[in-house]
Amino acid sequence: MMEIKYFDLAKISESFEPELSNTILRVTRSGWYILGREVGIFENNFAKFCGASHCIGVGNGLDALRVILMSYKQQYDWENDDEVIVPAFTFIASVESIVQSRLKPVFCDVSEDDCLIDTKKLESLISPKTRAIVCVHLYGRVCDISSIAKLSKKYNLKIIEDAAQAHGAVSQDNILAGNMGDAAAFSFYPTKNLGALGDAGAIVTNDDELAVIARKIANYGQERKYYHQYKGINSRLDEIQAAILNMKLNRLDEDNMKRRMIAEYYFENIRNPFVRLPYNSFFSKHSVYHVFPVFSEKRDLLQEYLASQGIETIIHYPILPNKQEAFKECNNLSFPIAEQICKQELSIPLHPLLTNDEIHYIVDTINHFVC
Ligand SMILES: *Cc1c(COP(=O)(O)O)cnc(C)c1O
Repeated sequence: MMEIKYFDLAKISESFEPELSNTILRVTRSGWYILGREVGIFENNFAKFCGASHCIGVGNGLDALRVILMSYKQQYDWENDDEVIVPAFTFIASVESIVQSRLKPVFCDVSEDDCLIDTKKLESLISPKTRAIVCVHLYGRVCDISSIAKLSKKYNLKIIEDAAQAHGAVSQDNILAGNMGDAAAFSFYPTKNLGALGDAGAIVTNDDELAVIARKIANYGQERKYYHQYKGINSRLDEIQAAILNMKLNRLDEDNMKRRMIAEYYFENIRNPFVRLPYNSFFSKHSVYHVFPVFSEKRDLLQEYLASQGIETIIHYPILPNKQEAFKECNNLSFPIAEQICKQELSIPLHPLLTNDEIHYIVDTINHFVC
């Protein structure tokens, strides 16, 4: 029996040696740890990677979203409790960022096709208080951005991309994540496609004015040291993380390509009447497969069986944001498709360092599942 971790961080870090340790040592010796040369270089490189004009390093992905929303509140005088539409099926950060900016999340159910915000249901949720749509490129697939853009024009709404799972993903029109809307939030949490060795995040935008405000708000609202133009937060990208990200960015396209090849193998070879593959395999060229989801009415049994065969899996996500204890005020809302995905989804291992033997073992094991 093989033992396969869902995501092998130690192995991934090892694959960047000796450069990784040298990079850390270089920053250690530089004597400069916050907002310096390394952050500047990474911001330039990552903006270029996304094809956008600005990148602002921040402390994590949640803060990237929060700082975008806080900045827009300043820029356009949005009021407390103005509304922001967000998919009902996402990681909690997409929703927390709205609540913590004292705006109101309005949930939109997702589509069964791709687990992404259902653009057919969007328009009915727009009110005179709606200011923005957070589109989450979940699992590494980008949202149907052209439909969202039409609505944003018609109702004058900002499009904010939650691209925390989509570094390098492209739309059908070949537009990169980070360059599809008005502003985008990235996370470099260690397990993301581009991961730091700790928390890290970035805002990417083509909006010059937003970039200036966001940079200040992420740094205590300072215009210059000790002069505070806005009420801000402290969310800065560390020099050491920026240096690591810079180095890892060089391999991101290659790593995403490997993820796609593994995903393709899964699509072609997983065959089991109790396991459903994701729909829209057509989009495989465009996805960066942060997650490879499979679906089963016997999901929990499937997970137990795979664990018994040494294969670690994760459920993304077991409870919807609006059903969480922390969001009691929304517990009564119902989103049938999102709820169904919660019950059936199981993420199987997929990362660039999986070996052929491991991939074959995963497929064989899944194909032998009976219940
Ligand atoms: C990881 C993630 C975030 C938040 O990133 P952190 O860096 O952990 O704050 C936001 N949205 C989605 C969809 C994510 O997967």
